[in-house]
Amino acid sequence: MDTHSPGHTAAPTAPLLDPFALAKALSGVHLIGGEYVPARSGRRFPVVNPATGIQVAEAAEGDAADVDAAVQNAARAQKDWAKLPARKRGALVYQCAALLKEHQEELSRLIALETGKALRTESRVEAGVVADIFEFFGGLGSELKGESVPFAPNVLSVTVREPLGVVGAIIPWNVPMLLMALKVAPALVAGNAVVVKSAEEAPLAVLRICELMNRILPPGVFNMLSGMGPECGAPLVEHPLVKKLTFTGSVETGKIVARAAAEKLIPVTLELGGKSPMIVFADCDFDKTVSGALTSMRFTRQGQSCTAASRIYVERPIFDRFVAAMTDAVNTMVMGDPLDEKTDIGTIVSEGQLEKVRGFIEEGTKTPGATAHVCSAMPTDPALKKGLFIQPVIFTGLTKDSRLVREEIFGPVTVIAPFDEPEAVLAEANDSEYGLAASLWTNNLKVGLDLAHRLEAGLVQINQNLVVQANLSYGGVKSSGLGKEASLEAMLEHFTHKKTIMVNMG
Ligand code: ADP
Repeated sequence: MDTHSPGHTAAPTAPLLDPFALAKALSGVHLIGGEYVPARSGRRFPVVNPATGIQVAEAAEGDAADVDAAVQNAARAQKDWAKLPARKRGALVYQCAALLKEHQEELSRLIALETGKALRTESRVEAGVVADIFEFFGGLGSELKGESVPFAPNVLSVTVREPLGVVGAIIPWNVPMLLMALKVAPALVAGNAVVVKSAEEAPLAVLRICELMNRILPPGVFNMLSGMGPECGAPLVEHPLVKKLTFTGSVETGKIVARAAAEKLIPVTLELGGKSPMIVFADCDFDKTVSGALTSMRFTRQGQSCTAASRIYVERPIFDRFVAAMTDAVNTMVMGDPLDEKTDIGTIVSEGQLEKVRGFIEEGTKTPGATAHVCSAMPTDPALKKGLFIQPVIFTGLTKDSRLVREEIFGPVTVIAPFDEPEAVLAEANDSEYGLAASLWTNNLKVGLDLAHRLEAGLVQINQNLVVQANLSYGGVKSSGLGKEASLEAMLEHFTHKKTIMVNMG
């Protein structure tokens, strides 16, 4: 694609491994109708490297006029896109996956730069999963099947799956490429066009993905806007031509999006917060579970995950040993420059988030009876002195009414509490507004499976706690959301509607 606006450097065709140069090249534009275009208002906002506090790019600051242009383009493009055979659409999305794989390292570096997530432990993993998701959905075109329905001998009665039209997708900053892929891939394969509004903190890597995919897709089926929530996100969810909303973010904003969907009577998928319990029994495989706790807590992502195991319940006989082993293990993790291969843990994404996390830590530290096990060490490199680093903290001695046990912190803070009885720990685990994910660690699969059935969560894993995987339905209950993502079911249920056609053959 060689389209670019005046004053904007065209993004390079070949993978560009220098994320600073790539960030500059992607500055100041949306991608609408296959073209780079600046915001109609000409406004931009800064994109800052959270490891240094230095601005690395500017993003176009979209508003209702940009939203309208993107949605109109998408609505036009969707008509022809929907007419393509489903397998052809899938094949094009599959080709996009191959191109994204070629650009995996470039995307990994760019996402590390804008979000502060460590390259080796986090950003490369995310970029890999993104390509995998597009590949998975690319192969599902022929699964957009209907049914024949037995009605009467002389009446042929069938159902067909039809796309919904223009999908408005709003994404957050923590795993923006992956969460975008979960929405864009099934929406496109099902024959919809998509307008994405990226998160203020992470507009660049998703813009690059959109541009790469626009080299393969017809112009207008995949559009990318950047901007603030109320000024750019709100007009997108309210636009009359947007026929489906899909959102990942906070419960508060999720309710705004759901209200907009209710107003227009259109379907909505919501993936909101979590306060995911991890339940550890004394008979678990101890070392595997300690290392499982580190990954479950997503410490390498500074705990910025809605599935982070931010409440860990450990059976009393191994409680002290578990806390000590986990503290030791987190102590060995290296905090530093996200782009450095040696770094395990990068930064928090923004100053606002840092303040919020610090507030929780302060409150926990001041709570009578609580102990804060502060782990790892702040980086000493002077170049990082303005970086948004924060040491992981493991709290013990907090009770279940603490805000740290009840609310989503979205930072490297977990609370460990002892338990004595399975029934009691189940009740505590379920005593939450949220119901996204949970994990159980035990060699007694009878107990494990029994609790797995009774935990109020969309995803329960026993003896592992993996991140989102293609082909496995992902999505929460209670305030954690509505609907599923990542699976065939998600594509069929959330990005198509079923039409019944009846033919009376006399
Ligand atoms: P976080 O606190 O993690 O940033 P938010 O729910 O505020 O979570 O943000 C997630 C996404 O929702 C971002 O892309 C943000 O810009 C967008 N957003 C925020 N407010 C609104 C709104 N009123 N309407 C639509 N989108 C919004």
